[in-house]
Amino acid sequence: MPAFPLRPGSTIGILGGGQLGRMLALAAARLGFETVVLEPRADSGGGQTAGLWLNAAYDDAGALKTLAEAADVVTFEFENVPASVVETLVGLGASVAPGGRALAVAQDRVDEKTFLNGCRAPTVRFAAVETTADILAGLEALGAPALLKTRREGYDGKGQTWVEGHADAADAFARIDKAAAILEARADFVRELSVIAARGRDGEVAAYPLGENHHEGGILRRTHAPAQVTPAIAEQAQVIAARVLTSLDYVGVIGIELFEMADGRLLVNEIAPRVHNSGHWTLDGCEVDQFEQHLRAIAGWPLGPVTPLASVEMENLIGHDVDRWPALIAEPEARVWLYGKAEVRDGRKMGHINRLRPLERE
Ligand code: AMP
Repeated sequence: MPAFPLRPGSTIGILGGGQLGRMLALAAARLGFETVVLEPRADSGGGQTAGLWLNAAYDDAGALKTLAEAADVVTFEFENVPASVVETLVGLGASVAPGGRALAVAQDRVDEKTFLNGCRAPTVRFAAVETTADILAGLEALGAPALLKTRREGYDGKGQTWVEGHADAADAFARIDKAAAILEARADFVRELSVIAARGRDGEVAAYPLGENHHEGGILRRTHAPAQVTPAIAEQAQVIAARVLTSLDYVGVIGIELFEMADGRLLVNEIAPRVHNSGHWTLDGCEVDQFEQHLRAIAGWPLGPVTPLASVEMENLIGHDVDRWPALIAEPEARVWLYGKAEVRDGRKMGHINRLRPLERE
C-alpha cells in the first residue's frame, strides 16, 4: 500500500484512454502527478496526454505488470473494464480506487438496482430477465410499456428496447439478441438530473449541485448546471449520494443519474463509478472540477470545494458537430474542450463546450 496522501510526483494509473482519461491526465499534470494510461485503441485522446501510454489489451499481462509497478494508485475512466483486470492489478500489489466492488455493481444492471434498493437509494421497479416468459411475468408486475435493457455493456441507450405489451415480448427479446436482461417499469419522469459526488479516503463526502440533462438519441446532448431545484430535491440527491458512496466504501468521484418524478421523489437510473459526462460543467463552473476532485480523493488529499462560480450550459460536440469549431472558438463566453480524436464518427463524443453565465440566484 502506498502512503497516503500521495506526494506530488507520484504516478496515477488510468485504465481507459478516452476523453475522461484525457481530462484526468490534464488535471493530474496540473497537480504535479505523473500518469500512465492503458488503452487498447490506437486513436486515444487520453493516451496522447499521458506521460506513458501503454497501447495494449486490458488483459495484457506485461502491460498490467508495468502499470502495477509504475502506478502508486490505479483508477478507471470507464466501467466496462473487465473485473478480472482489477483483480489482476490488486494481485500484483496495486492500489485500485474506486475498488472492484463499485465496478462489479455498475457492470450489471440487476446487481446495480438490487444494491441501490438495499442501501435505500430508490429506483424504478424491475425484474430480471432470462427468457421470454420472464418478460411476460415482468409485464404483469410492472405494467406496459416497460423498458428491456441488457444486464451488461449497455451505454448511451444501446442494448435497450421498449416492450409495448405481451404481443411484443418475443420480438423485443430478439431485438436485444436474447441477452440476459432487466425489465424496468417506465419512469414517468419530469426531468433527468444527475449528481456528481466524491468520497475521500477519510470518508468525507462532497456533492456538486445537480445538473439537468437532456438526451438526444440516447446520448447526452446538454447539461445545465446548477439545475434549478427545490431544497427538498437537492437534499434527496445529497442523501442518495452519501448512501451509495458509503455503502460501497467508495473512494473517488461517482456520477449518479436521477429521474425527478412529478411527486417530487428522485429515483436513481444508474451509477457510473467514475467521472461523468454530466459533470463536465464543473471544469469551468466550479472552484474544483470533477477531475481534480477524483484525483484528490484517490490520492488521499482533502476534497476540494464544490462551490459553483458560474451557471453553465454544457453542450456535447457529437460526431460532425465538431466541424463547427471555427465558430465556437470565436464565441467569447464559450470554453472549448476538444478530445484529440482523429476520426470523426456519428455518435462519437468529439468535444464539449461550456457556456458560462453569471450564477442564477434564487
Ligand atoms: P440508460 O442507458 O439506463 O442511462 O438509459 C438511457 C435513457 O433512457 C435515460 O437517460 C432515460 O432517458 C431513458 N430511460 C432509462 N430507463 C428508463 C425507464 N425505466 N423509464 C423511462 N425512461 C428510461
